[in-house]
Amino acid sequence: MATTDYRQTVVIQLTRDGVTGIGEGVPISRYQESPHAALQAIDAIHTWLEGVDPWQFRKVMAGVAERMPGQFAAKAALDTAMYDWVGKQVQAPVYRLLGLDPQDTPVTSFSIGVDEPGPTRQKVMEAEAFPILKLKMGLTSDEMTMAAVRDVTQKRLRVDANEGWKTRDLALQKLRWLEGHGVEFVEQPMPAEMIEETRWVRARVNLPIFADEAAVSAESIPKLVGVYDGVNISIDKCGGIQEALRMIHVAKALGLKTMLGCMVATSVNITAAAHLSPLVDYADLDGNLLVTNDPYRGVTVDHGKLVLPKGPGFGVTPA
Ligand code: MG
Repeated sequence: MATTDYRQTVVIQLTRDGVTGIGEGVPISRYQESPHAALQAIDAIHTWLEGVDPWQFRKVMAGVAERMPGQFAAKAALDTAMYDWVGKQVQAPVYRLLGLDPQDTPVTSFSIGVDEPGPTRQKVMEAEAFPILKLKMGLTSDEMTMAAVRDVTQKRLRVDANEGWKTRDLALQKLRWLEGHGVEFVEQPMPAEMIEETRWVRARVNLPIFADEAAVSAESIPKLVGVYDGVNISIDKCGGIQEALRMIHVAKALGLKTMLGCMVATSVNITAAAHLSPLVDYADLDGNLLVTNDPYRGVTVDHGKLVLPKGPGFGVTPA
């Protein structure tokens, strides 16, 4: 939704028996999270963490949930660090531990940041290698953004309204307008808590809609059935790979489509999420591509398709 000079995320290194796992979580201000609070929360359980067995990562995360309420970025960093550690211990990529075929990764969308029409056209042209673009909307500039994008490309588009359309009439008007512009689906058109209003709007349009801010955990998904067509799952929002896997399975069992999303992050975080991507229908894993000085190298993109590194754990190395 904006351009920034820097972003702070939480990166954890877990060293045990001579092997170091690395993990990363991004604090989301929408959920009142901050890097400082995340680090404080980890510090508060540091002594307990030194005594746990990372081979038992499910038991460890259950213990973390009891000792550290909230703090999903900190949880994501811990959980991903343990997966990376286990993968390095057994010398296998995490996708292999999960029984997945790395060829099954989806094509990721590439986000075009909100900007004036000139820079928007420029960004779309620079994104030539990506077959699917994601547009941020929910602002007064929505029509201007769409016009600028359609000036220069006829590519498939996805739209993320980020809860921006605050009344059902406005949301209905925007979705009907988007139906005529080659949009595949729209993410979180209305505020997360406006479930009944969203149900009313969805019944009046043909465009699929995905929950993002309304889908924060496996438990949050059942009430979305009949309202949304799919859910956007991110390890930062739900607290790591274990909860993301639960969300994917719950969503599938309820007949919802699944998407993996992300925040702006380094390749540690995005690669961790990408190892799950053979399980989902759609991916929006471009957070590392939007950073100019990513300190790590991991998942790459070939004509939009996610390419997983073959090294053990997440296969992430220093840039
Ligand atoms: Mg979103």
